[in-house]
Amino acid sequence: MPRRMIPRNIELYRDHSESYETVDVEGRPHVICPQCLTPVLLCQSLSDRQRRKAARLRETDSVAAMNYLKKAVPCGERAAKAVVLHLRKKDEGCHYCGHPMPRGALLCANCMSVNLDWN
Ligand SMILES: [Zn+2]
Ligand SMILES: [Zn+2]
Repeated sequence: MPRRMIPRNIELYRDHSESYETVDVEGRPHVICPQCLTPVLLCQSLSDRQRRKAARLRETDSVAAMNYLKKAVPCGERAAKAVVLHLRKKDEGCHYCGHPMPRGALLCANCMSVNLDWN
């Protein structure tokens, strides 16, 4: 069991109502990040090429990455920001705690953050 998934956090995770007040997922596939409780769109409509482009933009300019996602997905400002925040940098660990993660893994085993591996 990851150390942060303590009973209090499990309890918190059960109530998603406030999460949906911050980001409108418009009924699309998403995951609530257990670490920050933000809904993160899985952006299934994007091609691999579009995902790599978003990941590359995020390395240097997260505002540019957000603007790209807003048009490409398309989605609103907050949904795009949530995606950009959870993008994992190439050859680096978890975006939140830096814990090493295998390619393609969605949840960090150490802090339970959602990670999008789009490189
Ligand atoms: Zn998160
Ligand atoms: Zn982590």
